[in-house]
Amino acid sequence: MSIANNVNQVRQTIDAHRTDQAVTLIAVTKSVGPDVANALYAEGIRDFGENRPEGLLEKVEQLPPDAKFHFIGSLQTRKVRQIIDHVAAIHSLDRLSLAEEIDKRAQGVIDCFVQVNVSGEASKHGLEKEEVIPFIENCKQYPHVRIIGLMTMAPFTEDETVIRETFRNLRQLRDDVARHAYPHAPCTELSMGMSNDYTLAIEEGASFVRIGTVLVQ
Ligand SMILES: *Cc1c(COP(=O)(O)O)cnc(C)c1O
Repeated sequence: MSIANNVNQVRQTIDAHRTDQAVTLIAVTKSVGPDVANALYAEGIRDFGENRPEGLLEKVEQLPPDAKFHFIGSLQTRKVRQIIDHVAAIHSLDRLSLAEEIDKRAQGVIDCFVQVNVSGEASKHGLEKEEVIPFIENCKQYPHVRIIGLMTMAPFTEDETVIRETFRNLRQLRDDVARHAYPHAPCTELSMGMSNDYTLAIEEGASFVRIGTVLVQ
C-alpha cells in the first residue's frame, strides 16, 4: 500500500460512516519521520498528531507552515513551554496543574480536550467521568485555556459492544458539559477513534479521529 492509497482509503471510510458531522482526520505521525509526514501532507493532510514534544518540534520544523499539530500524549508540565506556540490543540488535558501551566505559558487561547478515562481501566490516563464537570468548572480561572471537547481511548478489547459503549458514554458526557454552556468550555467536539476503532467512533459522533497505523503502514 502507498501513502496515497492509505489516505484515500481512510477518507472514504470516514465518509461512509459519518452522518452530518464534520470529521477532522488527524494523522498520527509519532512512529514515523518527517519524510512520511511530508508524504501525508502531499496527499492533503494538514492535521498531525504527536505524543512527544521532541517529535512534534521535529515535524514543525520539517513541514510546511500551514501544517497543524495536535498534542495527543500525556504531557509533562515542564514540557508545556516547548510546544505551546506550535500546537493547534492539546488533546490530553487531565489535571489542573497542566491547565495552570498552559495558561501561564500561552500567548493566546489554547484549544484543549479534556481526556477522560471512560472505561475505568487502571492503565488509562484521564479523568474519571464524575470528575469531568467539576474539573471543567475549575478551569474557568485559566483564561488561556478553552475546552473545546472531550477525548478518550477505547479499552483494549475485541468486543465492539464495549468499544461502542465507551464512545457513546463520552458523547453523553460531552452533551452534559455542553448543556452548561460555560463560556470557557463550549465543549462541542469529540476526539475519539484510532486505526482499529475509528468507524465505531465516527458512528458514535467523533469529530476528530486520531489515526496512525493504517495511514503509515
Ligand atoms: C498512537 C496514538 C493514536 C494512533 O493509534 P493507531 O492505532 O496507530 O491509529 C491515537 N491516539 C493516541 C492518544 C495515540 O497515542
